[in-house]
Parts: sequence; C-alpha cells; structure tokens
Amino acid sequence: MRAVITGGAGFLGSHLCDRMIAEGWEVLCLDNLITGVDSNIAHLLDHPRFQFRRQDVTHYIDVSGPVDYVLHFASPASPVDYLKLPIQTLKVGALGTHNTLGLALAKKAKYLLASTSECYGDPEVTPQPESYWGHVNPIGPRGVYDEAKRFAEAMTMAYHRARGVDTRIVRIFNTYGPRMRLNDGRALPNFVHQALTGQPITVYGDGRQTRSFCYVSDLIEGIWRLMHADEHEPVNLGNPQEITILEFAERVRALTGSNVPIVFRPLPHDDPKRRCPDITKARRLLQWEPKVGLEEGLRQTLAHFRRQFEHSRR
Ligand code: UDP
Repeated sequence: MRAVITGGAGFLGSHLCDRMIAEGWEVLCLDNLITGVDSNIAHLLDHPRFQFRRQDVTHYIDVSGPVDYVLHFASPASPVDYLKLPIQTLKVGALGTHNTLGLALAKKAKYLLASTSECYGDPEVTPQPESYWGHVNPIGPRGVYDEAKRFAEAMTMAYHRARGVDTRIVRIFNTYGPRMRLNDGRALPNFVHQALTGQPITVYGDGRQTRSFCYVSDLIEGIWRLMHADEHEPVNLGNPQEITILEFAERVRALTGSNVPIVFRPLPHDDPKRRCPDITKARRLLQWEPKVGLEEGLRQTLAHFRRQFEHSRR
C-alpha cells in the first residue's frame, strides 16, 4: 500500500507518516516546509519505504506509480501562521485540495481531507455535532482558514458525488503533542515558552473562552480508523474534555514548575468563545474515543518542548 501525505513534515502530517510506515505502507511525503519542519521527518529519511519531496501542492502534483491513499494535511493551521500567510492558506485549501483530489481520481486512490473545527466558526451550539453548519465570518482575519477548509470540504464532497472518489473528511479539533513548533503562536507552545523563559503567560481576553485539547496519538488513531471506515460525510475527532484557557494556562504553568505571572491581552478578532467536539459519531462509527488525559499528554509534550528549547539555545 502506498500513501501520498501532503503536509507530511508538519505536526500532524509527520505523526501520520510515522503511523503509516509502522503499518507497513510506502509513504510519499510532500511538503513545501513553509510551516512544516524537516526535523519532524529526519528520522524517516533513510527508511526504504519513505520518500520526501519538497513541493507546493497548489501546483500540479506529478506522482509516478500507483497510489492507494491521498491524505491532504498541508495547510498553515495555527492562527498566527495563517494570519501571516493568508493567501497561501486560501490557496492550499482551494487549489491544493483540487490538485490532491485530482491525483486521487487519476490514481483511483482513496482520499482523506484534514478539515477543522474552525468550520464551525464561533459556534452558537455546544458541543458541536457534525450536523451544525457553523457560524463563520467569511471576511474576518480567520476567514482565510475557515473558508478555505469549508471550500475544501465542498470540493471533496463534489469529487465524491460527481466523480465517485472514495473520500473521507475529518474535522480536527485542537490537538497537541510533540513536534508542535515552540513558536507557532498557539496557546500551549506560547504558555510553555513563556514559562520556560521566565516571561509572563499571555492569556487573551478574560481567559473564559474554552477549548478541548486532544493528544496527538489519540487523534492519529482516530484518523487511522476513519481511513478504513465507510463514511463520506465529516467526522469530528477531538477530546470532549472542555477547559477554559485561563485554567489551561494555570495547569501548564504548574506543570513547568514556574511561577511567572499570568497577564491578560486583547482577545484576537473572532476568537471562538467555546469549542468542544460532539464525538458521538466517532464513538459509534469508529469505536473511538480519546484515551490520554490532559495531565499525561501535557507531561509528554512538555518534555518535547524542553528538548526543543535547549536545542534552540545551543
Ligand atoms: N490564546 C491565549 N494566549 C496565547 C495564545 C492563545 O490566551 O498566547 C488563546 C486564544 O485566544 C484562543 C485559545 O487560546 O482563545 C486557543 O488558541 P490557539 O491559538 O491555540 O488555537 P485556536 O483554538 O484559537 O485555533
């Protein structure tokens, strides 16, 4: 079996490459490294079943030989990244999705789109089931990501319905773990970096907004199961344990053993007030639910961040 994984040098993409290699697949990893990092896949480069190609998937993707699965994970995914790269974010969601679907069609391969809980925008329904259409501001700063992914979902369903491509869509909620970039601007890397460097922890708004954090190994297991399920409509994957950002900051600070103060900064535009997945569908369809609790997941991630931090200071 051979998979093409776009964004394969990113946080989730690289964990997916690891999983596919461990399952005995051949992997062609495509990444233009604008937010992905080559160190995420350095350990795979000499593997006989792993191949890396630096490529921007918004351009035509030429792959020789058979392909059994195309997994489209390429996209800036942290708010700071996609605000810095708005056009690239829109293009990879639109053109990149079109090209990868075209590749799947040409190779008669199955297809999985990495979509996002951002499709729900700033939701008026909590927890969010897949049937909720969302509450998205198309022209706000986050619109570049939200609408790109909503377009990507529409495009994926169109290729499924009109061209018969065997597609899957996963709506990924906040996920954390080793290989997140310490400087990607998201809450967890920021808090850890601030605690490790003795700077105040920046909580945006009053910190009462919520998120639900899923450990990466749980997410990858869910994706692996979805790859093999017969479901074409979106499936939420995430951890339903909801926590306020203020409490999250306090947990991270305690775990680092730091006593830096927590300071409040303005809430970014259109920052969702609540986010929590309804995973009823994943439970039923995939017999899946997260297994790693926040405490354990944070410990593992912190160990990774400490290594990254030491490395960056050398
Ligand atoms: N956040 C924060 N301080 C930071 C970074 C993020 O309070 O230094 C907040 C952010 O406003 C949001 C939540 O933490 O409410 C999660 O943000 P993140 O960037 O991790 O991802 P999002 O869930 O917004 O995509």
